[in-house]
Amino acid sequence: MITLSPEKCIGCKKCVKACPFGVIVMKEKKAVIGDGCTLCGACEPLCPAEAISIERVEKNVDLAGYSGVWVVAETEGLQQKVKNVTFELLGKGRELADFLGQSVSCVLLGNDVAKFTDTLIHHGADRVFVGESAALSRYVTEAFQPLMTGLITQYKPCVVLFGATHAGRDLAPRIAASLALGLTADCTGLSIVDGLLLQTRPAFGGNIMADIVCPYTRPQMATVRPNVMKKLDPNNHRTGVTIRVPVTIDASAFRVKLKEIIDSPQTGSMKIDETDIIVSGGRGVCCDGGFAILEELANALGGVVGCSRVAVDLGFKPKLAQVGQSGTTVSPKLYFTVGISGSIQHQVGMKSSDVIVAVNKDAAAPIFQIADFGVVGDFHEIVPAFIAEVKKMKSR
Ligand code: SF4
Ligand code: SF4
Repeated sequence: MITLSPEKCIGCKKCVKACPFGVIVMKEKKAVIGDGCTLCGACEPLCPAEAISIERVEKNVDLAGYSGVWVVAETEGLQQKVKNVTFELLGKGRELADFLGQSVSCVLLGNDVAKFTDTLIHHGADRVFVGESAALSRYVTEAFQPLMTGLITQYKPCVVLFGATHAGRDLAPRIAASLALGLTADCTGLSIVDGLLLQTRPAFGGNIMADIVCPYTRPQMATVRPNVMKKLDPNNHRTGVTIRVPVTIDASAFRVKLKEIIDSPQTGSMKIDETDIIVSGGRGVCCDGGFAILEELANALGGVVGCSRVAVDLGFKPKLAQVGQSGTTVSPKLYFTVGISGSIQHQVGMKSSDVIVAVNKDAAAPIFQIADFGVVGDFHEIVPAFIAEVKKMKSR
């Protein structure tokens, strides 16, 4: 609850300017808070007269009663395989849980998915909750959200991680809203500091990285971008526990019916986030024939062509090829950049790549700060030389 003391207010208007929601107005030289206050807290510390006070009603949560790191698994292709992001989250979840001295659980909801239990355990889970039903064969909010909310309420995990996928981005906020929890979306980094989950994500258009904590509620929840975290090498000797989740779903009561899923056309035959080698071009190759040279290099290397945002904006490449904060996050074994300066927004989407090679004529380009190998010069000369060398090596 927010209160403003008219007696203390000296009418300086600092709070009026500070309120991002425009709910503070001046009346008779005194500030008045109208409807729509979100309790964001921006005004309180700025008031020189200490006229504003926000009383936060902390939920009476027994924080110590919550334990364990949970990963919400996703499958694709009508349960044919577990999505890679699940293994990435298990890798990070394992690290967080070991730091906390807690366990890792994976929640696997779907149709005919129990066959994946061992794989999840081999990748770091101590415990797998398995819920199966034909109604769970595709992600539907009304089926998944009540199940997840019920499990969280019953088992009280300390941390819950979701992939920042279409399903994860829909499911996580629904759970957060239903349980009145915080949620940090699109994280690119997670760690434990003072016992709390430090959730790092780009903010203000990627110009800063924000560290977010959720000290008052449990579980702490985050969605995490695919291709950011590293999955563990599977250990086939790991053992774990399987817990069957009873599922009774009346799909006829759903307000939303999933009729058809239409896949977007991809660049080439491989998805940009599923390939080991990406040759990416930026402003420096946005010229006649620039991307054709990169296609040739990508073909020689057995990879695909990606690009920075400017190449999409200028109409040289489709949006699906864009790597970066507003495009796809990738972590291939080789990320070869040509004519990309390396803005923070682009780096966010590719800096987890195993090996980064940069070609740019500007020696001061930021991309060279994260590149493992850098070549300064004109790509018209350098890239064909690479292509010739790759072809020569392949012919040996
Ligand atoms: Fe009054 Fe404080 Fe607002 Fe200034 S900042 S107008 S003193 S409430
Ligand atoms: Fe505005 Fe935030 Fe202050 Fe509420 S707490 S009055 S929304 S600045």
